[in-house]
Amino acid sequence: MQPDGSIYEIEALEHIYAGRSVLRIEQLAIEAGGIVGLVGPNGSGKSTLLKLLGLIEKPSRGSLRFRGKVLDPFAPRARHHVTLLPQEPSLMKRNVFRNVAYGLRLRGQTDQLEARVQEALSFVGLPAEHFARRPWYALSGGETLRAALAARLALKPRVLLLDEPTAGVDAASAHLIKDAALRAQREWGTTLIVASHDRPWLYEVCSDVLQLFKGRIFGTGEETVLFGPWERFTDGTWGKTLSDNQHLRIPEPPGPETPAVVENIILGETDRNPSPDQVHLQGVVSRLNLAQKTGRVFATVLVEKLSWTVPLTQEQVLHRSIYPGKTVTIQYRLDSMRWV
Ligand code: ADP
Repeated sequence: MQPDGSIYEIEALEHIYAGRSVLRIEQLAIEAGGIVGLVGPNGSGKSTLLKLLGLIEKPSRGSLRFRGKVLDPFAPRARHHVTLLPQEPSLMKRNVFRNVAYGLRLRGQTDQLEARVQEALSFVGLPAEHFARRPWYALSGGETLRAALAARLALKPRVLLLDEPTAGVDAASAHLIKDAALRAQREWGTTLIVASHDRPWLYEVCSDVLQLFKGRIFGTGEETVLFGPWERFTDGTWGKTLSDNQHLRIPEPPGPETPAVVENIILGETDRNPSPDQVHLQGVVSRLNLAQKTGRVFATVLVEKLSWTVPLTQEQVLHRSIYPGKTVTIQYRLDSMRWV
């Protein structure tokens, strides 16, 4: 670990696939022992960043340091400490016990092998007495993912990278996976880096959230991103008409599809007439989340099908009695928008 507590340091990093730049990060430091969330639409570079942090691939340009050192992919120094659970992990053609024990054996860590495998299996809710001898093909999708996670947890890694760990699994498995990862962070100080579409969960548990789009980090996840295509209304203003006939307005966009980022969305007053540089939209609160790090509350407000992130103070939640299901008006200023 570096004196300032960073486990990773990135500088002037660029990653190129088939001649195309898919990730560019000028500077990024990741603190040891924290939980970092990666959010962004498909193709924004989350998996690429995880593969680089997992030391599976080397950045095409720039530097990525792990505990102060630039390491080659699969360097033994890193393999002992860093492990990635990919999006669709497959088990090896052997039983659950041998799958979970595999990484430990490979690293020569066979002391108390049985106990470590059992502990890892219990973390993910697969009790050894029922699951250890099961062959790889006799597990459901959620159980396969949990066994694959147990194989990583058995290593007691310093860094656990999770790529969409709850996508496409049943709710019970998703809950167990989240719980197991958080327990590793709590009990062993494992640094967690998680790409997920489950923003409310990330807001709740993360020390930092990085929002990616087109291979760039452009925010902290507290912003709302609006996607085109944009149209010019008859009065000359720009935006789009939602299916409930509300007008989502934006400033003149640099391109017909350029996504817009809105910050500082506030709860508006329903009975006010918006001034020309303010936009009011009606929506329904779908969730309230507490950000652990800042103590701030985030409301997820659905306007038609678009999900908006609205920061609130605890007083607002209380005095304006904000609850899931409540119809609210959200408000933003056109001059508070930027483009990505
Ligand atoms: P995300 O995880 O956010 O969905 P990815 O990191 O998987 O995004 O992808 C970022 C971009 O890199 C996408 O445009 C994707 O098509 C491209 N990409 C990812 N892996 C490869 C690869 N092995 N070869 C070529 N292009 C790739």
